[in-house]
Amino acid sequence: MLRQLRNSRQQTCKVCGRPDKFNFRVPDEVWASIIPPELQTKVVCLYCFDEFAHKRGKDYSQDIKTLYFAGEQAIFEFSVVWGKGATC
Ligand SMILES: [Zn+2]
Repeated sequence: MLRQLRNSRQQTCKVCGRPDKFNFRVPDEVWASIIPPELQTKVVCLYCFDEFAHKRGKDYSQDIKTLYFAGEQAIFEFSVVWGKGATC
């Protein structure tokens, strides 16, 4: 897992060009419903993923099961605390 995170942290987002330091996993069907077809096989960072989800009015807060910040100096694991579609 850590090796995987370290290898993937050098990728850059194909939408905004920033380093993709947030490593997250969503189910394929959620990805397909949020990301435009031409970008679905590309690296899309969490910032841009959230922008696409917002534009589509799609709540993905229950769909991210793992979220890591994979930085140069440290790696953190996060959990979801709030989503627009959440019932709490
Ligand atoms: Zn981006």
